[in-house]
Amino acid sequence: MIVVMQARANQEQITGVVKRIETDGYTAHLSEGEHHTIIGLVGESPTPLREDNYATMDGVDKVVRISEPYKLASRTFHPHDTHVPLNGSDMGDNKVLLIAGPCSVESREQIIEIACAVKEAGATALRGGAFKPRTSPYSFQGHGENGLKWLAEAREITGLPIVTEIMDPSLVPMVTEYADVLQVGARNMQNFTLLNAVGASQHSVLLKRGMSATVKDLLMAAEYVLSHGNNKVMLCERGIRTFETATRNTADINAIPVLKAATHLPIIFDPSHATGKWELVESLSLAGIAAGADGLIIEVHSDPANAMSDGRQSLKPEVFAELVQKARKVAEAIGRGA
Ligand code: PEP
Ligand code: MN
Repeated sequence: MIVVMQARANQEQITGVVKRIETDGYTAHLSEGEHHTIIGLVGESPTPLREDNYATMDGVDKVVRISEPYKLASRTFHPHDTHVPLNGSDMGDNKVLLIAGPCSVESREQIIEIACAVKEAGATALRGGAFKPRTSPYSFQGHGENGLKWLAEAREITGLPIVTEIMDPSLVPMVTEYADVLQVGARNMQNFTLLNAVGASQHSVLLKRGMSATVKDLLMAAEYVLSHGNNKVMLCERGIRTFETATRNTADINAIPVLKAATHLPIIFDPSHATGKWELVESLSLAGIAAGADGLIIEVHSDPANAMSDGRQSLKPEVFAELVQKARKVAEAIGRGA
């Protein structure tokens, strides 16, 4: 349930509603809109919710039941787009932002070289995994804290904020020390202990859709992070498992407008993991922007043939640079910058 306050509601009236919510055993989440303050009731309580109890309070405009199980992620609760700050830019703003970099941080030289190249091409943020979730335990698992240090050095040189994956709640203190955005990977989308930990960190989060997760599952996973009062959450469509084998995953382009309608959180599209083939990345990137994505996350490597992970889907820097030019044109064509 949400309580929509009148446009002229004063602080005392807002506090009155919040206190009533807490007395009834629920948690109050405030969303300050341009005209109205909306107060969401979240949680479980033995006290049944009676709309009339709230509708008659001073300063209340109306009370609305939210039928979706995701409350804080829902547009009903928060009608305006949420912006997640990214070093001077805002993900979720009109501009389409590009996050680019290698799948794995392989060496200090590698990450610095790629960071400089993607910055030059027009990227807004640098991606790179230091802790890698690999299907095989015998595959390269990432350089761990050394990788994070090299990422931080690359940020120092280029000014690009860092997006990097976190796989374990115990690593929150370490990863937040170096990263600007904590990526929760597809394989961990329903690792609820991790979601609670990144939520409590109050750090920005990029939450990727699980490969067998529905859009609703993704929104419920986001709800875990949001329930900690952390609304710096970006959602990422990265392709789902289907019967199709021509591509690594099936890009669920539908999910982009579906998510944009359902939630106020920024939506990012990952054409690299969605296709698994570098030669398809440009087409899907442009399709993702046209479908309404707020940003793209793209794998770029200077030497894809010798990459330690995901070389097959990685763009060479010069190919990424060409893609940026085309991405800008599509963004402009639909009334957005890039
Ligand atoms: C990645 O970003 O390199 C990655 C492992 O992505 P996903 O979790 O979407 O598979
Ligand atoms: Mn990858």
